[in-house]
Amino acid sequence: MTDPNCLFCKIAAKQIPSAIVHEDEEMVAFRDIAPQVPVHIVLVPRVHCAGLNDLTADLAPVIGRIALVARDLAGRMGIAASGYRLVANCGPDAGQTVHHLHFHLLGGAPMGGRMA
Ligand code: AMP
Ligand code: ZN
Repeated sequence: MTDPNCLFCKIAAKQIPSAIVHEDEEMVAFRDIAPQVPVHIVLVPRVHCAGLNDLTADLAPVIGRIALVARDLAGRMGIAASGYRLVANCGPDAGQTVHHLHFHLLGGAPMGGRMA
């Protein structure tokens, strides 16, 4: 369920401090330590899963609820109208550095380029 060596498992368990903006029994959302835009939140399931390649059907409901919480946080952070991205990096080409499934909520400034 959790990996004792995993950074985001430790953040979810509050063994490592973070700026938590939402938590419930299934997920935790906290401010990215190195924000790339003014609003940069990381949303993670409490259950350890290394990334999208390891996603299993039992996690599908929590992924849906993470999307709903991301929408609510976008409203709370004032970026719902200006726009935002919800991004999950998977594997080296995508630049995944923490191997616990997570979604970046990014907004608060125009994001150039058209990666998607
Ligand atoms: P990724 O590159 O998609 O794996 O995203 C990992 C993210 O975790 C990066 O944006 C990091 O800045 C962020 N990060 C790493 N360590 C911490 C930490 N202790 N607290 C908050 N965010 C972190
Ligand atoms: Zn983990």
